[in-house]
Amino acid sequence: MPHNCPLSLSTLLIDQQTVTPVAPGAMQFFVNILENIGFSCQLLPFDDLDGQPTENLFATIGSGSPHLLFAGHMDVVPTGDTALWSSPPFKATEHNNMLVGRGTSDMKCAIACFVAAVARLKESESLPQGTISLLITGDEEGNSINGTRKALAALKDKGISFDAALVGEPTSVEKLGDMVKVGRRGSVMFHVTITGKQGHVAYPHLANNPITALNHLITALTKEPLDHGTEFFDASNLEVVNIAGGEGVDNVIPHSATATINIRFNDSYTSDKLISWFSDHCHAIASQCNVACDFTKRVSGESFLSTPGAFCDIVTNAIKENTGIDATRSTTGGTSDARFIKDYAPTVELGMLNATAHQIDEAVSLDDIESLCSIYQTIIKQFA
Ligand SMILES: [Zn+2]
Repeated sequence: MPHNCPLSLSTLLIDQQTVTPVAPGAMQFFVNILENIGFSCQLLPFDDLDGQPTENLFATIGSGSPHLLFAGHMDVVPTGDTALWSSPPFKATEHNNMLVGRGTSDMKCAIACFVAAVARLKESESLPQGTISLLITGDEEGNSINGTRKALAALKDKGISFDAALVGEPTSVEKLGDMVKVGRRGSVMFHVTITGKQGHVAYPHLANNPITALNHLITALTKEPLDHGTEFFDASNLEVVNIAGGEGVDNVIPHSATATINIRFNDSYTSDKLISWFSDHCHAIASQCNVACDFTKRVSGESFLSTPGAFCDIVTNAIKENTGIDATRSTTGGTSDARFIKDYAPTVELGMLNATAHQIDEAVSLDDIESLCSIYQTIIKQFA
């Protein structure tokens, strides 16, 4: 088995059915591959509250500093209707210079490229000084409870720290390497309930309509833009995603009304700052409209920016050297496990084209597989 071949490795990984979460035992095949190359491996299984144990893998080669972490996930999203695929989703298939299969883009090929990059450097005795580690997790596409977050905490407890982290999520848009992610927006969800006084629609002076108050609240919240964007981020955005109220009849002013509001925020904010801003508006409406205005909130991640610096330069220079492309440094898109990793080391995300991620006939080009392996080799060499 040629471990230095990113295409062969990709095929091996894609042929494993690893729909999220990855079950205990399912990473053993990968442990065998990594140990053959010279990595020492430890499995990090964690249990969910509802009994869905997840397997994660930490593998290390070399010793001392600097310590480069490559982070990725082995789990994939479900296939959807397999009859719609032009080839079996868990049988990597070459077609028209593309490799088709679930997880090609997101993100088994990137894992394969990084591992093959290490194997090639080792063979040519050009692995640089220091340590290279892999953290390959099993629930990124699921609830993200038993993967990266717990694994990094466990590694920290063992005294393991990193100088930089490269995440292999699919960040490229039209050409391999045209975009790297250097941060992500944060996200907070509010669920607000306004309680007024129920009454006859013909006698509004005997009631207090919570929908009117909710309308005032939303108007106040959306009156001004949250900001106008920052150097690396688009403007923060507030979206009302649900409004509900009414007693199911036409002649009753309802008792209460609710709204669900999501804010994606940039580095002008912390979730605490937005929660206090939201709370101030709720208090104002409560007193202005003489209603009760209560809310719950859920923060799914803070905004973050990996200080554009040495590591980001190494990554974009490696792209330029191998492809000639000047990568855009972006903070767009949804969340990834980089939101946990950035608390431990400067983090940059670079991987395959994301055009077909999660889709039927997910695929990446064979040329990109070879090219990403070369870029990763350059990053590893330059990092030392
Ligand atoms: Zn992913």
